[in-house]
Amino acid sequence: MTDNADLHEAQAVHDVIIIGSGPAGLTAAVYTARANLAPLVLEGEPSSTSDQPGGQLMLTTEVENFPGFPEGVMGPELMTRFREQAERFGADIQTVKASKVDFSSWPHSVWVGDPDAAEPTYRAKTVLVSTGARSLMLNLPNEDKLIGHGVSTCATCDGFFFRGHHIAVVGGGDSAIEEANFLTKFADTVTLVHRRDELRASKIMQDRAFANPKMRFLWDSVVSEIVGDSKLEAIKVRNVKTDAVTTLDVTGLFVAIGHQPNTDLFKGQLEMEDTGYLVTGPGTRTNVAGVFACGDVQDHIYRQAITAAGSGCMAAIDAERWLEGIGEIGSGHVPEW
Ligand code: NAP
Repeated sequence: MTDNADLHEAQAVHDVIIIGSGPAGLTAAVYTARANLAPLVLEGEPSSTSDQPGGQLMLTTEVENFPGFPEGVMGPELMTRFREQAERFGADIQTVKASKVDFSSWPHSVWVGDPDAAEPTYRAKTVLVSTGARSLMLNLPNEDKLIGHGVSTCATCDGFFFRGHHIAVVGGGDSAIEEANFLTKFADTVTLVHRRDELRASKIMQDRAFANPKMRFLWDSVVSEIVGDSKLEAIKVRNVKTDAVTTLDVTGLFVAIGHQPNTDLFKGQLEMEDTGYLVTGPGTRTNVAGVFACGDVQDHIYRQAITAAGSGCMAAIDAERWLEGIGEIGSGHVPEW
């Protein structure tokens, strides 16, 4: 790493920049703000997908498993409260997206807007990456509109609402089977719609699903239509071998065809797994000194709002402690882990 102190003398260097504003990013903002680190949060820009300020919870309706809300809370309202709490302690939240980062020198550089601009928009001693992940979707008309109204990507979050219902799960991997098995605790029947005639899921998970009396299987099938105006009423399923289309009267559709971390911005900059998830450890450290990652962008296992918030807290504390230990910019000291 090189110390670019002279070059960047004229530009204020932030102690902390947080990229992303789901539960992880905003929790990190609360903690770093309360540690007098004046965090700058690049919260993203409005969109119809989970790639927006507030993240995946903006696409959910009621959240009943976030501790502290015994009566439940709507996902967007919860994220508004996270945001207000961060602002209360002085976090500077900007409704912009980072377009480029350069972690090869220190302080770290972050661009907003034109990524080809010669100078970065911001520089920071630490960057906390909390850009989250997104569920892969079927990309059918109606899908976005009915998320939270019958269409879901999280059985742990929404299963409870389908007590006594007939529902479907799409996918054939471990996620789909795990979610389907879990959903049989609530639903009367769970129909697994899979595009091939064998599952990708591990044998033990398959055996469990085949032995479950509430499970049904539709092989060689894809969802071709999501039916419903204000809530899900049915799905149409096409057999890929015969092209026959049947209607399945379900009030719930769980899409479990995998997740994708939002890490394009960090390719070539941060170490990631083959699947794109950022590699962290010890704690929330990435492979680059001064860059930390928290929340779903580095977690393909738990993926809960509360676990993301917990890791946001960890990243804030990790960053605060690291900042305490490094020398001043310009002292010639190049920080390392
Ligand atoms: P995955 O293993 O990639 O499986 C995705 C499934 O969705 C596959 O069956 C795939 O079909 C299907 N699919 C993909 N795109 C589709 C589309 N457009 N339309 C219809 N179907 C589509 O993803 P995952 O199940 O989320 O698992 C990800 C990783 O986490 C895996 O390594 C898994 O083992 C692990 N995991 C482990 C556990 C556990 O051990 N408890 C639980 C969850 C996840 P094809 O089979 O035809 O490709």
